[in-house]
Amino acid sequence: MARDTRAAALRALSSQVAWSIVRRAEALRTGKAGRDGRGPLLAHGPVFRVPRADAVVRAVPGREPGTPVGAGEPWDVAAPVALTVDDGPDPTWTPALLDVLAAQGVRATFFVVGERARQHPELLRRVLADGHHLGNHSYSHVQPFAALPAAAVAREMGETQRVVTGETGVRPTLFRAPAGGWSRSVLAASRHHGLTPVDWTVDPKDWREPPADRIAQRVARARPGDIVLCHDGGGDRSRTVQALDLALTRLRERGTLFTAL
Ligand SMILES: [Zn+2]
Repeated sequence: MARDTRAAALRALSSQVAWSIVRRAEALRTGKAGRDGRGPLLAHGPVFRVPRADAVVRAVPGREPGTPVGAGEPWDVAAPVALTVDDGPDPTWTPALLDVLAAQGVRATFFVVGERARQHPELLRRVLADGHHLGNHSYSHVQPFAALPAAAVAREMGETQRVVTGETGVRPTLFRAPAGGWSRSVLAASRHHGLTPVDWTVDPKDWREPPADRIAQRVARARPGDIVLCHDGGGDRSRTVQALDLALTRLRERGTLFTAL
């Protein structure tokens, strides 16, 4: 049994290392394309890109501000930043974060843990009522997620789909693996459940509970097309709540647009 556990942990590790190499290479590729304006605007890994739907022209000479841009047009386009919030819902931190987002006028995507969603279904409904979106973040947040047998991955996804859909009437279409534990079988299960895998590009490491101004600095580095990761569950998230208020103010002052995925 111990040997099986070690073998599973090794498999997970090698799968995650391989995956992170793919992810870095892809981020470099798409990031370059984004910055020089030829390819997709959005620097992101192999699993998702922020949609360009909200893109608006900022200042192209001879054009009205707000004119939609076509493919291949230059890069003075303001793509939105996608704020994502993982590990809730939590009866303390989710409402506090929702208050900040409402005050800032920012919509986000909440990747919820199924067993927490089952305990606090009213918070799922408030998230949606406030105009945010819900995504699936597994049922029990077991790690390393990439090491799970395919049947367990399917259960983790399916059970959370059932809870969220049952409580809200809205079926999630996005999945984020706990701690980014992607593997081929996790991606295959996502496809099977009709879930788009969503990774991130900006990680302020708020789960380590650094000071709020440090988290805020890291979040405020987000550029158009980034997907920002932060957390409203799994620990004391008072610093995250405080940091987002600071960072969103700074980002909005720079003209950053936000989108829920
Ligand atoms: Zn998580």
